[in-house]
Amino acid sequence: MSINAEVSEPDDGTPLLCSECFRDVGLRLDAARFGMASRQPCPNCGSSSGALLDEGRIRWVAHRFFVLGSLTKAEYGGAPVIEFNNLRANEVSFLTELQHDVELICENAGVGFFHYGPPLWRLGYIEPLEALQDHDRADSVIQRILTEFPEASLEPGEIFFRLRKDVSSPGDDKQFDSPPRAVCGAGRLDTMDLPVLYGSSDLQVCVHECRATVDDRLHVASLEATRPLRLLDLTAVLTEECTTFESLDMTVHLLFLAGPHSYPHSRAIAEAAKKAGFDGLLFPSYFSLLRTGAPFLETAFGLTTRVFHDASSREAGKIVPNIALFGRPVEDGLIHVRCVNRLYLRQVAYDVGFGPADI
Ligand SMILES: [Zn+2]
Repeated sequence: MSINAEVSEPDDGTPLLCSECFRDVGLRLDAARFGMASRQPCPNCGSSSGALLDEGRIRWVAHRFFVLGSLTKAEYGGAPVIEFNNLRANEVSFLTELQHDVELICENAGVGFFHYGPPLWRLGYIEPLEALQDHDRADSVIQRILTEFPEASLEPGEIFFRLRKDVSSPGDDKQFDSPPRAVCGAGRLDTMDLPVLYGSSDLQVCVHECRATVDDRLHVASLEATRPLRLLDLTAVLTEECTTFESLDMTVHLLFLAGPHSYPHSRAIAEAAKKAGFDGLLFPSYFSLLRTGAPFLETAFGLTTRVFHDASSREAGKIVPNIALFGRPVEDGLIHVRCVNRLYLRQVAYDVGFGPADI
């Protein structure tokens, strides 16, 4: 898997360094993971126990540690603080042992690190996204979202899951309907006047979305529609004839990667979709990238990979759709509770990366 089209996973080449050449512990661990296993001594430090790094692997490890590891989130979007290429002299220095490692990487991979000034779309400066946050201009953007995003159908027989903590009567189907009015209005799409039943066909995402822990008493309902339901598909990748600064596709992509400050805007979209006759939405889970391991706002040659020809299937692989159904679909007979199970967490595994502490 490529973590960035500009720094692709390397083939084996001539070893220049090894994981033990580095002093920073996080960088050593990342280098040990992505280096070449060998008993050959390192040409730099002479160790026979480190994982060897050729030039491509040094760049790969540097990209993970310094670029992905320096990502800073903005209100919408985000960007790495550090970048590197083979055209610039090194401009980044550290007061720790990491400075030694930076110099070693620059020397052996022929690169220089610099402080990255990202394109402003990465930080949410996208015209429709700004309009969506402006009370006077939001409606026209919402109308475009309703017409430019495709419609999907949730068919009978397509099972999806709804996970709940502390259900008092698991045998009562209504316990898996939308929450009571008194607790509506706290989620990404629901309001006091528009209850929403949230679910997903991906159980791992359900566990994340529910913020479930090992101590929770959990039940999962397997749900299916009783007739085809009309959903507005906000997980789609739009084909557009405009720059990323004008992109409706990137507007919606960033909206669903944002935290609770964005909820008033996603709720306004849900309300409008309900008024337009949709039964619900398909929307990207906030935890999509954590689930798929895809990088945040992946770019190649300075452009978002979402604009590339035939990007939709590759981009779709980075997103996990959630299902939101308006009103009380269990009570209204639109959703059938096919089965309820107790669910327990048996094992959890994290895939971690490291970055510089001092940025
Ligand atoms: Zn070494």
